Amino acid sequence: GQCANVCPVDSITEKYEYHYVKEAINNPEKVVIVSTSPSVRVALGEEFGMSAGSFVQEKMVALLRKLGVDFVLDTNFAADLTIVEEASELVERVTQNTAPLPQFTSCCPAWVKYVETYYPEMMSNLSTAKSPIGMQGPTIKTYFANKKGLNPQSIVNVALTPCTAKKYEIRREEMNAASRYLGIEGLRDMDYVITTRELARWAKEEGIDLGDLADSNYDDFMGEASGAAVIFGNTGGVMEAALRSAYEFITKEKSPEQLFNLVPVRGYEGVKEASLKIGDLDVNIAVIYGTANAGKVIDQIKKGEKHYHFIEVMTCPGGCIGGGGQPKDLLKDKDEVRKARIQSLYTKDEAMTIRKSHENPDIKRIYEEFYGEPLSELAEEMLHTSYEDKSKILKQKGENKMNKWICSV
Ligand code: SF4
Repeated sequence: GQCANVCPVDSITEKYEYHYVKEAINNPEKVVIVSTSPSVRVALGEEFGMSAGSFVQEKMVALLRKLGVDFVLDTNFAADLTIVEEASELVERVTQNTAPLPQFTSCCPAWVKYVETYYPEMMSNLSTAKSPIGMQGPTIKTYFANKKGLNPQSIVNVALTPCTAKKYEIRREEMNAASRYLGIEGLRDMDYVITTRELARWAKEEGIDLGDLADSNYDDFMGEASGAAVIFGNTGGVMEAALRSAYEFITKEKSPEQLFNLVPVRGYEGVKEASLKIGDLDVNIAVIYGTANAGKVIDQIKKGEKHYHFIEVMTCPGGCIGGGGQPKDLLKDKDEVRKARIQSLYTKDEAMTIRKSHENPDIKRIYEEFYGEPLSELAEEMLHTSYEDKSKILKQKGENKMNKWICSV
């Protein structure tokens, strides 16, 4: 479209991809697999008259089954995988100087594109770990397909997300790791992205009310997740999750209580910072939402005014719970809605027994059976990526209006 050089998803208006998903469901040769992002389960209910932040995970799974989806998996599984890979990378950077510090998180495609466009000289600071959706896709078409005896070419991989920018991310050329691994040309890691709002629209078209459905649970192998993955949807959540693992990787000791309610990164401000003791190291961290805030912090780093080890950046206010594909019905209380969704994810994390990504039994198993160990050759090939200098296509009129149209409630 005409906005191709300005906006990261190449689309100002939302595209309804669920029509393609419906077609695939009606095609008996296709196996439709939907993976659900953390933030959808605390927002979908709002579309069906429930209060902000209602936790509807089991009903969301039931809805997808009712719509005819063959397997429902949890992107939180891949969030755990992302944390294990990204925390291992951080440990390498901090202890062995393998790449520059600070390490930036890389799971928000709008943020990644912002760095590629406006600060290409900082691309090596971006973690090479793919986003959870970026890891879920190729893992389904290889490991999961093998476990279930599915032909990878029959799989239609769908990500259910709070995010419109993910529609762009899955179409980045390099997101074809399964194709390279299997030697099958034309295979994409993830085929479609549908948003929370799209799913609600689809359900309403079919005359389904979420509240009427009996609870259902995820399918095996890639449906189990830790509390660390649950909080991925919140600003500060990726940081807290990564530190729970990085602490144990570095010190070989149990993470302290502090890392299970990391107060300095849990607030709702656009920029938060903290310093933590991990073994002998003083680790400086920052958590940011909004690319304008991130730009300011990068400028301070470049001037030598600030020194960080690890920085989380999300584009949307409050993190992905405030993504552009989320319900907008309760717009008048924007901040209250976002805070209710944030609280709902933290409450779920607290209620879980496994709260560290590397202790998720499904994650342990996938390393044993498939990836070997974090940062192994196969993990690098499938779960990590590279970035491209996009500064040349920058600076057309309109500049950086990403926040404005990506983020909603
Ligand atoms: Fe998408 Fe917003 Fe989350 Fe970034 S912060 S991944 S743009 S929902």
